Amino acid sequence: MNEFDLIERFFKPLAAGFEGSLNLSDDAALLTPPPGLELVITKDALSEGIHFIGDEDPALIARKLLRVNLSDLAAKGATPWVYFLALMLPKDTKPQWLERFAEGLSEDQKQFSIHLAGGDTSATLGMKSLSLTAIGTTPKGRMLRRSGAQAGDIIVVSGTLSDSALGLRILQGKANPYVVEADQDFLKDRYLLPQPRLELGLQLHGLASSCMDISDGLVQDLGHICDASGVGAAVELEKIPLSEAAKHWITLESPLLSLSLNGGDDYELLFTVPPERISLLPQGCTAIGVITRELGVNVFGKDAKQLIINKTGFQHFS
Ligand code: ADP
Ligand code: MG
Repeated sequence: MNEFDLIERFFKPLAAGFEGSLNLSDDAALLTPPPGLELVITKDALSEGIHFIGDEDPALIARKLLRVNLSDLAAKGATPWVYFLALMLPKDTKPQWLERFAEGLSEDQKQFSIHLAGGDTSATLGMKSLSLTAIGTTPKGRMLRRSGAQAGDIIVVSGTLSDSALGLRILQGKANPYVVEADQDFLKDRYLLPQPRLELGLQLHGLASSCMDISDGLVQDLGHICDASGVGAAVELEKIPLSEAAKHWITLESPLLSLSLNGGDDYELLFTVPPERISLLPQGCTAIGVITRELGVNVFGKDAKQLIINKTGFQHFS
């Protein structure tokens, strides 16, 4: 199948109905920004062997590719609008792979009201490499930023942390045999299919003083908010929200608790709220600490003992 057949068969149907895509029949898309709104633009790539294992259902890979970008839009309080897709695929990629991949995108496009507007497709001598650019909208001047946290603000996270890192352990064959199958399925699902917190992102306008999504571990990402805001943070380990499945596993293997600090792929929102607004915190969010004047991210355990964090999250090229 050549590049043009492939676009015709798998991607034109995903662009149909969105005028600005020009039906993927021109060199570029043509978009008119909605009046009064600004564009929020983000790009995230997934590489086979690094971000996905390779033998997953291609529909799940596609949905994760879209959702990691939607998580960035959520973190900025933006509403999804359009996306662009770049695929670098080995020559022996099967049409069945692309078919499932396109099915995954189709399903999530509907769920998140986002449209395909263009992209690029090329062969590679290496493994699969997938990249997606997502564009969202937000009222002018309202995008949530990493900067803006002030000493005394409460540090909050959505959902539960470490599930995804534990799910990855299962997929890597490192499951604990005493973790029941239903819990294992839950954790694997958290790794394979992130839930972008788009509704929460919208609720954070006028509430959060800073916001980002957690993809590289809480401590490292909180460090980014602190750097951008010129402040520090004190986190209470005991307050970090864990799912029942994660709690059970960590009871059996206590060192895994560190995954709540430095495990990757959480895709939850991390934000700060001035104390006077904390009563407005939406459901499903947990206060885990406070922003400090003293720089650096510090984590405190039982009896307010400070913990030494030796690995500060997932880092590439190290
Ligand atoms: P170019 O020669 O500039 O690379 P192409 O011939 O590759 O352009 O692309 C033709 C059209 O198909 C363009 O509208 C482009 O946006 C679209 N397209 C190509 N690959 C993809 C893809 N993977 N997903 C969505 N649209 C694509
Ligand atoms: Mg091209």
